[in-house]
Amino acid sequence: MPEIVISVDRTMMSNHHGKEFLGFLATGPSVLLPEWLWLKICCPKPKVIDNLGRPLEAPYGLRKIEAKLIDAGFNAAVIDPDYLHKHVKTAKLLLIGHHDFFAFGPPSSEWWLITGMEPVNRKSFIKFMESHPVNEMRRRGVKIVVGGPAAWQWWWEPELWERWKIVTVIDGEAEKVVVDVVDKLLRGEPVPSYVYIGPHEVPSIDEIPIIKAPSVNGLVEIMRGCPRGCRFCSVTLRPLRFIPVEKIVEEVKVNKKFGIDHVILHSEDVLLYGAEGVIPREEPLLKLHKAVLPLVNDLAWAHASLAAIVVAQRRGRLVTKLTDLIYSSTGQDYLGVEVGIETGSPRLAKIIMPAKAAPFTADEWPDVVEEAFAIMHEHNIIPAATFILGFPEERPDDVVKTIELLERLRPYRSIIVPMLFVPMGVLKGSRAGVARMKLLREHAEAMRVAFWHTVKWAHDIMSRFYLRGTKHVLTRTLLSLFVRLAMKKMREIERKILPQFEERELSLVASKTV
Ligand code: SF4
Repeated sequence: MPEIVISVDRTMMSNHHGKEFLGFLATGPSVLLPEWLWLKICCPKPKVIDNLGRPLEAPYGLRKIEAKLIDAGFNAAVIDPDYLHKHVKTAKLLLIGHHDFFAFGPPSSEWWLITGMEPVNRKSFIKFMESHPVNEMRRRGVKIVVGGPAAWQWWWEPELWERWKIVTVIDGEAEKVVVDVVDKLLRGEPVPSYVYIGPHEVPSIDEIPIIKAPSVNGLVEIMRGCPRGCRFCSVTLRPLRFIPVEKIVEEVKVNKKFGIDHVILHSEDVLLYGAEGVIPREEPLLKLHKAVLPLVNDLAWAHASLAAIVVAQRRGRLVTKLTDLIYSSTGQDYLGVEVGIETGSPRLAKIIMPAKAAPFTADEWPDVVEEAFAIMHEHNIIPAATFILGFPEERPDDVVKTIELLERLRPYRSIIVPMLFVPMGVLKGSRAGVARMKLLREHAEAMRVAFWHTVKWAHDIMSRFYLRGTKHVLTRTLLSLFVRLAMKKMREIERKILPQFEERELSLVASKTV
């Protein structure tokens, strides 16, 4: 039995039916459908590989911590939340990692602000922390450590920090500190209640371990950090590190050994793997894809920047070369990726993300976005795109520019989702965004335009790409039903609410879940 149990609630511990984007449903409240059905669509239970409850697939961050501790000689394992009761008497530490503990991150906080209802992921996490096995562990003196990209959210919930007797919150890339923290806790020595890993204390490539067991949907990290320096983003605070191809291949092989034969190449900007600054380079990208593709049946990119897509295609048709390689090697005929539009306003782009368009200028940003969307459309790359409303420096005419850009993107197959500004990165600490936001008429219009764009493409994307075939008939039917109900609701809003819309304050209101 592991003395260090690593776990998290169901919204994280799931493979989302093999479709990452379904996991995003957990960031919203269960609107129009009962919560159990909502969870069934987005967060099914994963298979477990033994009666200890070790999941076949687990979130990549948890796998990294597990690997680091195993490499250091500890008896640690990721355990599915439904099997925690088996470890109550033997566990000494419970480590919990999450990317959005309390739904203050994007896009959970947006859905929460807009609907006034607590997102499913928040409710699920609170239920997990109040569950019988976690309470029993606490009662027996098991020490609880939390961490992950959402560690900052504990500062917003100090009562729960205390109520749940969290010994330490680890904020930042934990590989360098977790062994020491765990060692001290097992020896009964004191540790700080909050450990922050700054940009200069992040692990080097050699200090990042190779996972020991599969990650959700075969996700494998290819680089950390991002050179663009957007003011609202915490990733930008971390230095850029490229994971060597050999290490990436080793992790893909770990997944494959357990039957996971797909890979999501994870990076904030896949096309910048091995890049010279913000200029993609053909050689490392082809080398990476050629090394990974023979091992998998399916490949996806986690994120790509729109500027890098344009540069890659203009210089040597690199997007064409990569998609030709991927489609001919795997038999897949489309590629999913997340991209950030953020704003259609060059004025605002200059303030909040001056290098997002680089090597182009911020003035060229709307054209760069449209060109990237056209390139992706032509190559069957389906972006899940986001844009952000409510930046502190935003003016109504900036939002009008965003609406104009959204109209230009209508011909291109994509999902476009609005997000409301959440203070992170160097803006962390400003309470302007996460606690409340003034919703202007222009914001409502931008959301309306994005809604109809996504609805226009949703059926095509579900039936011809993501959820085609009999295997996904139930999920497709349920999602189609949801889309139809959402369209009906939007028409009602357009008829009754938008004509007399007035500026309003939105704020997060937690129900008495605990
Ligand atoms: S390009 Fe994306 S990952 Fe990079 S700093 Fe900007 S928002 Fe963050």
